[in-house]
Amino acid sequence: MTDRREWFIQWLRDAHAMEQQAETMLNGQMERLENYPELRARIAQHVEETRLQAARLQECLDQLGESTSSMKDAGGKLTAMMQSLSGVFAGDEVMKGSLASYTFEHMEIASYKILIAAAEALGEEQVASVCRQNLEEEEAMAEWLSEQLVPTTDRFLSRAEVDADSAKR
Ligand code: MG
Ligand code: FE
Repeated sequence: MTDRREWFIQWLRDAHAMEQQAETMLNGQMERLENYPELRARIAQHVEETRLQAARLQECLDQLGESTSSMKDAGGKLTAMMQSLSGVFAGDEVMKGSLASYTFEHMEIASYKILIAAAEALGEEQVASVCRQNLEEEEAMAEWLSEQLVPTTDRFLSRAEVDADSAKR
């Protein structure tokens, strides 16, 4: 039997592992965005936010007397998404990255909403407060990414046209 506190700790560890994966994913994306300076700059900012989010969760786990997530916690869940981003140049990696980032931020948002509800149910106000802070950053990032979908698509398609034209000459 797993009691509700154990579930809560497990979800907190999962969130910590999620942030570690987020850092890896975002760093991988930045390397491929030399033609998209605005995306790159915002992602760089979110890498810093992500590091702090992970550190905050780690502190929560420390204070609860629990170890942080082991790598096995991080394994598996996001493997497919990571693979889609770690492949060799597909040509449209900025679009693949846009899909993955948007998806990832929404998974983070759902995770924190769940954790906040669980923390409140258990009277863990400090954890709830940390998760609300992280949630705010994820929501801001998700909204910004949403606004970029149309301009990024336009920019990608016009670049594709330029590349095709110059290849013909
Ligand atoms: Mg995050
Ligand atoms: Fe995020």
